[in-house]
Amino acid sequence: MAARSEDHPDGAVETLPEPTPRRAAEREGLETAEKPAAREEVAPAARLTPFQAVNYQFDRAARVLGLPDHVQVALKTPFREVLVEIPLVHEDGRIATYHGYRVQHNNARGPMKGGLRYHPEVDLDEARALASLMTWKTAVVDVPFGGAKGGIDLDPRDLTRPQLERVTRTFTERIYRLIGPHEDIPAPDLNTNPQVMAWIVDEYAKFAGFRPAVVTGKPLEVGGSPGRHSATGRGVQTIAALAAGAEGLDLSGARVAVQGFGNVGSWSARFLRDAGARVVAVGDVGGAVRDDAGLDLERLSEIVGAGGSVVDHEGVTRISNEELLAADVDILIPAALGGVLHEGNAGDVRARLVVEGANAPTTPAADEILREKGVTVVPDILANAGGVTVSYFEWVQNLQQFRWTAERVDEELRRIMTEAWHAVSAAAAEHGTTLRTAAFVVAIERVAAAARLRGV
Ligand code: NAD
Repeated sequence: MAARSEDHPDGAVETLPEPTPRRAAEREGLETAEKPAAREEVAPAARLTPFQAVNYQFDRAARVLGLPDHVQVALKTPFREVLVEIPLVHEDGRIATYHGYRVQHNNARGPMKGGLRYHPEVDLDEARALASLMTWKTAVVDVPFGGAKGGIDLDPRDLTRPQLERVTRTFTERIYRLIGPHEDIPAPDLNTNPQVMAWIVDEYAKFAGFRPAVVTGKPLEVGGSPGRHSATGRGVQTIAALAAGAEGLDLSGARVAVQGFGNVGSWSARFLRDAGARVVAVGDVGGAVRDDAGLDLERLSEIVGAGGSVVDHEGVTRISNEELLAADVDILIPAALGGVLHEGNAGDVRARLVVEGANAPTTPAADEILREKGVTVVPDILANAGGVTVSYFEWVQNLQQFRWTAERVDEELRRIMTEAWHAVSAAAAEHGTTLRTAAFVVAIERVAAAARLRGV
């Protein structure tokens, strides 16, 4: 993937690409936030931008709560949005220019919290959507944070490690005034990892001193927490077990398919296997594989850890990512990108339970199709909240300058995820809604209460 614009040493200026439809829709996305929910139920439009899709879910819950219009607008509108230029000078003198985003959505319940994503499709609308989801996610698990999200529109495969470090440091230098242990705390997300967090700690220290609580998901050596790396997967397993129980589905022997074999996907798969489930299909950007006897997850991790793809595993059946999503399994875990379950393929899903490891993997139109088919969807803001929960523990440990044991982290994580599950399923029963609307109801009530008490 080429950078957005390049300045050639010979003076030739490359034509800038046309704005993508999503960029053109960014302003439209903000207008959605500025409008209160419609009074009547409206069928989901097939093509909503990511931010419109989150607000569509918000609106459903706002209607259940009878939230006044002015409160809806206040809660949907981002607190602050930042866009910075990130130039990278190549050895031959060329300058590649990337764009860095940070959207801070809401801080009524505490400092804003959310990941940093390195992906060519990162843009303002996606950052708004994911920042908003973080506001609702931190409230669902009741950790004292608000929501934020950001990233850089680059493909890490195009950069060497020193270049990735330079880009990360430039981004940090340009946003350091806006982040901090009590303001906004980034973390890893798609294509970022503990190493990237360590570079941010170091760059931030040049301006504000050594304050490791400025980011979470750090390596253990610079203030990370035991259990953070696997936390999202552990949380996915905890919630999948509770949801399976509620569905009368025995986790032991249940067949599972996982899309994405990075942090969230690989750990979710391993914890589910350890809980007795049979992981029969996994996929990544290179494709997918299937083995009805249960895949060798350790071998797959070795292959992916060495830079390969799950499709490099020999002796198993190769399938496409579309076939993986439609696989004959009991539980489907999308744990890669957003929007992978859409109106074009939701009808093909054969799983009884979809547990969202990724953020926003199901479009509103797909949600509706799955509901009509009787497929239970456990929403991202509940299912993948294990990561931000252990990020909270990491932040607490940094502020206390005291390290917890791995056992304590796992035990507290299970407790918080279980409480969140019970709060959401009780709200679903009370209001007669899907788990997604119920999770938004729980979250919005908590955020609105804090905003009311503090005064907007
Ligand atoms: P990661 O970079 O570690 O892994 C991403 C995986 O998705 C990789 O296996 C990659 O090959 C695969 N992938 C990428 N493009 C794909 C495509 N087009 N088709 C199929 N697979 C594809 O990222 P991660 O941290 O595991 O994050 C995955 C998702 O989970 C993201 O939506 C992220 O926002 C969400 N999430 C992550 C965390 C966390 O703690 N890391 C927490 C909550 C939610």
